[in-house]
Amino acid sequence: MSEGLVTVSYVGATILFILSLGGLSNPETARRGNFYGIAGMAIAILATVLGPKVTSYVPLVVAMLIGGSIGMFAALKVKMTEMPELVALMHSLVGLAAVLVGFANFFDTTISLTGVEETIHEIEMYVGILIGAVTFSGSVIAFGKLSGKITGKPVLLPARHWLNLAGLIGVIVIGKLFLSAGSGAAALFYLVIMTAIALAFGVHMVMAIGGADMPVVVSMLNSYSGWAASATGFMLSNDLLIVVGALVGSSGAILSYIMCRAMNRHFLAVIAGGFGTGGGTPATGAQPEGEVQPIGAEETADLLRNAGRVIIVPGYGMAVAQAQHTVFEITKLLRDKGVDVRFAIHPVAGRMPGHMNVLLAEAKVPYDIVQEMDEINEDFPDTDVAMVIGANDIVNPGAQEDPNSPIAGMPVLEVWKAKTSVVMKRSMASGYAGVDNPLFYKENNRMLFGDAKKMLDEVLSALKAG
Ligand code: NDP
Repeated sequence: MSEGLVTVSYVGATILFILSLGGLSNPETARRGNFYGIAGMAIAILATVLGPKVTSYVPLVVAMLIGGSIGMFAALKVKMTEMPELVALMHSLVGLAAVLVGFANFFDTTISLTGVEETIHEIEMYVGILIGAVTFSGSVIAFGKLSGKITGKPVLLPARHWLNLAGLIGVIVIGKLFLSAGSGAAALFYLVIMTAIALAFGVHMVMAIGGADMPVVVSMLNSYSGWAASATGFMLSNDLLIVVGALVGSSGAILSYIMCRAMNRHFLAVIAGGFGTGGGTPATGAQPEGEVQPIGAEETADLLRNAGRVIIVPGYGMAVAQAQHTVFEITKLLRDKGVDVRFAIHPVAGRMPGHMNVLLAEAKVPYDIVQEMDEINEDFPDTDVAMVIGANDIVNPGAQEDPNSPIAGMPVLEVWKAKTSVVMKRSMASGYAGVDNPLFYKENNRMLFGDAKKMLDEVLSALKAG
């Protein structure tokens, strides 16, 4: 394939990637968006493999077979609830690739540049390895935290901000020394030292971040992986990689910003770390006033049957229990009886952005009854029953009522304003942020204890029987 044809293919792939991002912004067009992405990636791979820069196919085909098989195996095997971990792991690979390409460039004796061109190439290498190493180690720690292999609690070293500042000054000074060291052993020494600092920085940065801020960190690492890919594109003089890396980098940055706003956190405060715990532990601190009032499946079915308006709030527990199909069965049944049923989606419900939308789409819940927090929050006072399925932090009134709560200021779904709220979960354990939830003790709240799928099956049977 000629260089010209490769360039045309790259332009085509870029357009498809932009269309893909546009499509993914809405559940109704997401499938099409995915298709554009697949087509763009297929064109990009074909153009690169058949392009004039490739001289030997055997290692390329072997690498593609190994990588493709691992990817396919992971996609088939990983559960929806484990997707954030998989994404974090994938980001770490992009970071590692940037580091390896950087070192390969350093050792490549066929590159003979001089003057300004040489300096620019060295800067590309240095920055590529720097971003790649931070992305790699940060993503590995994020994977450990999300999968529960490392504590979700923020690990805060004394004087951690000073340590970060020292690291930053260190890499700038070492960068200057690297640029003036040529290409010998001294330059390699500086590169290795900088890589070690960047790896340590990635570990330190993510270790300091608490469980509740992990979504922002994952999307921030997504952004870093994009910039790392872009830097790799500069090193390899591959225009497509530069553009695609920039697309991923900037969309990840925008997503981080949107999520920070949804959690009422400042981006810098998230990066500075120190908020939230591993979750799932019995909540500590002063117990909220009021009494917990359990309810059974039959009574819940009665409440739903007699309601005019119902809002369902799904959370992480619905994903764990895989209860989305039963939820839809109940929704259909109630709608057939004339009950107005809608779904309220919090931007950080579950364990990744869009987690709930994906599950509800899988269960074939119509898009027009699935509404975002901003659209539906003011409708709770006119609602008879708010049914919370395995959600906790996103319906915690403490965020509004208790200025000392660790999640104070985070926008939440105001389910307690409904005539009755029913919370479905297995115990009184806290959610991801590890804070107690005063909702459970409110007078108009009922607790339906048990696994969400099991309890919803019972509610469905009771509704059918009644
Ligand atoms: P939470 O983690 O706050 O609460 C989920 C609740 O589900 C738990 O309290 C648990 O209670 C219950 N649960 C677990 N398994 C089951 C089951 N089988 N059946 C019934 N209930 C179950 O989830 P939310 O969705 O309310 O909030 C999301 C939280 O996760 C936020 O703090 C957010 O910041 C964080 N997060 C979000 C990410 C994102 O991108 N969306 C990524 C990473 C973190 P019990 O054990 O008693 O059953």
